[in-house]
Amino acid sequence: MSARVNLLDLSPADAELALREFAVAQGEGAYRGSQAARHLWASPVATFEAMSDLPAAFRARLAEHFELPRLGLSAHQESTDGTRKFLFRMHDGQAIETVAIPDDGRLTFCISSQAGCPLACAFCATGAMGFARNLTPSEIAGQVRELALLDPPLRATNIVFMGMGEPLMNWKSVDTVLTILNSPKGFGIGARHITISTVGWLPGIEALALRPEQFRLAISVHAPSDALRATLMPVNIKFPLDDVIAAAATFDRRVTFEYVMLGGVNDQPEHARMLAALAKRCRAFVNLIPLHPGGAMGFTPTSPSEIAKFARTIRGLGVEVAIRKSRGMDIAAACGQLRVERLARRRPATADEDREVQIP
Ligand code: SAH
Repeated sequence: MSARVNLLDLSPADAELALREFAVAQGEGAYRGSQAARHLWASPVATFEAMSDLPAAFRARLAEHFELPRLGLSAHQESTDGTRKFLFRMHDGQAIETVAIPDDGRLTFCISSQAGCPLACAFCATGAMGFARNLTPSEIAGQVRELALLDPPLRATNIVFMGMGEPLMNWKSVDTVLTILNSPKGFGIGARHITISTVGWLPGIEALALRPEQFRLAISVHAPSDALRATLMPVNIKFPLDDVIAAAATFDRRVTFEYVMLGGVNDQPEHARMLAALAKRCRAFVNLIPLHPGGAMGFTPTSPSEIAKFARTIRGLGVEVAIRKSRGMDIAAACGQLRVERLARRRPATADEDREVQIP
């Protein structure tokens, strides 16, 4: 038998087309194909067998020709603040993380785009584990699908590509996944509720800019000068800050800067002034992120009062700024931490390390 077609690697339109053609070839009405397509993303079920609105014989033939691969759930943790973290294992044994963060009536999924990451940012747990491979569309969108298959289901209102990996280095897959997430025949999540976070991988920013939908772009800046940024983010040598800011300035939608606060490293008043100047060049909104201590070898978090002061300096210069709340501190819910913890069997940070900082 030839290999079965993985329907979850296709855009919803292509999957529906393939299913409609298959239905007709099987002597069924084409609408049976559309019925099956709805069960991939819009009202997902785990197997063809579970598509109970289809005739049993047709379901059996679907299962012979197509596949709906699952991601194996190998760990699950829930924080006292309601944040839930999932560790999925791929068919080749690679592990990736997905985090579900409830806030104010929203449910944001933080999803992974690569197994590991090649970029080795100094403060990042994923960077420390090295790069294994790109994820396929079905492995990325599958994270959202798996949580929708839970009982009770978790349905994302917002998606951020802030889990493991650099999404714009895996553009081919991410391109398809954006369609799956946003399409009314996919998850139907509004483009403005989907954020791609990047170190500033320029070819990917250009590709994203060509998409007509209003997907949001977040740039991991983390240092306001090339000299400092290159010590924290080796990618800065390939794509220097100036070029990244220029790309952000030509991006036709509002950009967010991500800036993780590293005690004594990038949190001084002159850094705030330089960061505000960069933000002005591309009309960016600045998000200050308290450092998640797990996995961030050799760095200490900036104190909440110092972060607030840094934010006031930026705001005083006329740039919009917010301080991100740290979530899931008791479950090691920062980029790459659950996987690192599983592999190294470390204890997670305790809940009382959690500090929620209000926007000043
Ligand atoms: N590669 C992409 C997306 C994944 S990381 C990017 O770099 O943007 C998502 C965000 O988490 C990035 O801004 C990253 O710098 C940040 N991050 C990584 N480690 C962190 C830590 N220990 N504490 C706080 N934020 C961290």
